Amino acid sequence: MTLEVVLATHNRHKVEEFRRILALAVPGVTVAGYDGPEPIEDGITFAENALIKARAAADHTGRVAMADDSGICVDVLGGAPGIFSARWAGTHGEDRANLRLLLDQLADIREPRRGAQFVCTIAVVVPASATRAAQERVVEGIWPGSIATEPRGENGFGYDPIFLPDGFEISAAELSATEKNTYSHRARAFTRLVPEFRGLIQ
Ligand code: IMP
Repeated sequence: MTLEVVLATHNRHKVEEFRRILALAVPGVTVAGYDGPEPIEDGITFAENALIKARAAADHTGRVAMADDSGICVDVLGGAPGIFSARWAGTHGEDRANLRLLLDQLADIREPRRGAQFVCTIAVVVPASATRAAQERVVEGIWPGSIATEPRGENGFGYDPIFLPDGFEISAAELSATEKNTYSHRARAFTRLVPEFRGLIQ
């Protein structure tokens, strides 16, 4: 049996990463894009925002929907940018401006005080059916590391060029897509979701 899950994001990088991670982790589950209305993300945690997006897509399509909310949390900034990662420099999705501002803010901070982590929260919403009540699941994955002093690498997106994952000498943007999808916060959150999906496709 297979299950097609609507992925409630318009971010094509995320759709691609989710597709690849899912194909590796749960072969019976495939991802469908979503072009319905995007709700206002007015939650104050990653989990709240992921649920807002997944609920909206499940309501709109009547199908199993999944959404993630993710970002980078820097220790010395008290966890910021956090939920504001996508618009840290003011405009949503300006990746280069966002990472440049973060580098400037950390200009005077030396190792070992440049610790940071990527966080990914994934929400899955299964709409109510004739045979069962609606279900919601939320999982979180964390990828620890630190912030580089200069961008390095061309792969990935967002803050990848300035994120040095623990245990690596290179940035997340210097990892191959397969390597990133093995270690990333998104992959770690997914590992926690796999048993839930197995239950849904039985
Ligand atoms: P969201 O689309 O509201 O979840 O915003 C996530 C933002 O966090 C993105 O725009 C990126 O700036 C950052 N981010 C999340 N995941 C990653 C990643 O895997 N690599 C680099 N940046 C990421």
